[in-house]
Amino acid sequence: MLIGLLLPVGHSFEVTRERRRLILSRVRIAAAALSLMTLAWILIDAWTMRWPYWGIVAAERLVAAAAFALLAFGPRVLVPAGQFTAVGILILIPVVFLIAVRSAVDGFSAIGDSVFISTAYLYAPFLIAVSFSLFPLTALESAILSWPVLALAMVSVSSRPELFASPSATLLRLTLIIVIAALASMSQLQLLIALTEHSVRDRLTGTLTRRAGEQRLLSGFRRAMRRRQPMAVAFVDIDNFKSINDRFGHAAGDDVLRIAARSIGGVLDQHDCLIRWGGEEFVLCLPGVDLAAARRRIEEIGTLGLGEHPDGGQITASVGIAEYCSEGIADPGTLVRTADERMYTAKAAGRNCWVDGSGQSIRFIRAAQASSSILKSSVERSDGDLQLLNAE
Ligand code: GH3
Ligand code: MG
Ligand code: MG
Repeated sequence: MLIGLLLPVGHSFEVTRERRRLILSRVRIAAAALSLMTLAWILIDAWTMRWPYWGIVAAERLVAAAAFALLAFGPRVLVPAGQFTAVGILILIPVVFLIAVRSAVDGFSAIGDSVFISTAYLYAPFLIAVSFSLFPLTALESAILSWPVLALAMVSVSSRPELFASPSATLLRLTLIIVIAALASMSQLQLLIALTEHSVRDRLTGTLTRRAGEQRLLSGFRRAMRRRQPMAVAFVDIDNFKSINDRFGHAAGDDVLRIAARSIGGVLDQHDCLIRWGGEEFVLCLPGVDLAAARRRIEEIGTLGLGEHPDGGQITASVGIAEYCSEGIADPGTLVRTADERMYTAKAAGRNCWVDGSGQSIRFIRAAQASSSILKSSVERSDGDLQLLNAE
């Protein structure tokens, strides 16, 4: 969690998506408000500044307002898709504008001396720094965004030092405000991570909920199509689960679900995800995984097992596997449905086995069984060797 607050890494798919959505929508709202404010301020400039100074500033205001309006209302192709770039542009527009109007404001101040207007422009970096707190940013992102603001403040302080009691104290105050705004951004991000993770996780098993899982399947499928990569899914249904509830009670059934989810989760790779599809049914989403690798992953789950019943018996499952690329499947819904149908074939074949596109059912062999069968076959082999030796 701490790393995710400091650096933009390690966020789940859902957190990344929600953060991007939230930041981009806030950037658009802030840009729309700033576009209007930038235009409206022309009236204040005209009232407080002399011609031609307010005219020069008004021309620059029109350009800044147009840039804000483009960010707020522009077509998606023009607005950056990356949330960090969008916030960066939102901050750079006023920074560039304030540096551009500096000569006009300084020229006006030299002749008319309006402290009101000069200080309004000179203290703008503080307002920009405070605006960081509108966004759920990591510490690194706030640190990078603070540089243009500090640069603007240095330009302001060095151009009109007489307006600041102590230029270095002003810069120190600005730095403190940036730090406080960055902490506010990080606490927003922490809340976003906590709420998002809470809303996408199944409370009993900790796997993804079906709703969140469908989103993952869709985005994984689209990415696989774009990159021409494979993507497999496995539909896992625990065998005779109802009888566990009936024999040992609902709480014991819940434990079995938890244990099974943890066992499957133990063999997942970084990009795989496990979804609780319904009661005792799970969907394993394997982006970038071809059919052969998916079979190996499922075999591994079968070898390690899904845990034990309350009476010590093995929890088993029936599994259907499907892969979109090699099987020409057109959408994620059909991919899951195909795997589900194969899971029913596995049930009909006697449970505790998996079925893929070949339609053949392959029984799971647990590690203990696997080692005993290896032992058995090696004994048989050594017997054979012995017989051969005897024959010789
Ligand atoms: P099969 O091998 O054919 O899949 O049989 P099954 O008994 O596993 O399947 P069935 O669909 O007959 O029963 C599923 C049961 O799962 C019925 C339902 O009461 C139970 N169930 C669903 N959700 C939960 C849950 O969250 N906790 C518990 N303890 N039981 C649940
Ligand atoms: Mg079922
Ligand atoms: Mg079942």
